[in-house]
Amino acid sequence: MAVDLTKYISSYKDFPKKGILFRDISPLIENPDAFREATNRLAAFAKKEHANLIAAPEARGFIVGSPVAYKLGIGFVPARKKGKLPTATVSASYGLEYGKSTLYMEKKAIKPGDRVVILDDLLATGGTYSATAKLVKQLKGNVVGAGFIIELSALKGRNKIGDVDTMSLIKY
Ligand code: IMP
Repeated sequence: MAVDLTKYISSYKDFPKKGILFRDISPLIENPDAFREATNRLAAFAKKEHANLIAAPEARGFIVGSPVAYKLGIGFVPARKKGKLPTATVSASYGLEYGKSTLYMEKKAIKPGDRVVILDDLLATGGTYSATAKLVKQLKGNVVGAGFIIELSALKGRNKIGDVDTMSLIKY
């Protein structure tokens, strides 16, 4: 029987700042059945898009994206914060629901024509997704899908994603 993933999301008022309702995937990844269900559903999506790479932003994106790449037998490319990558990088800056940041990707990580699905724990305004997609595109990869455990629909992140195929497992 399918696992009801909504039961495994916690919500915290005023974290990390007043006025933010923080949605937390910790209970989901702590539960093996829920984590497996989420991974399998995102993997089925990435497989349908014929991805040969998963890319994901630091840090919770790594938790979501790595098991999907492992399950499909394809590579995983991290989009990292400043000062973490040893070889030449491309970069893209973005505004978050709370704060600002820049993400980096190693130039050698993606080859022209690679089919890349971007995964993350949560889609809010779409800024983090957009920065990750910009990194992939700078390296001439094709972003063929965007997948999230949670989508905060009111923040309209999908508008930033445009016509890339998008799936989320839980919508608020
Ligand atoms: P966006 O860039 O506005 O779409 O925000 C999404 C990014 O911020 C993701 O990488 C999330 O990990 C993080 N984020 C934003 N809001 C939340 C939240 O309520 N819970 C957990 N992470 C969040």
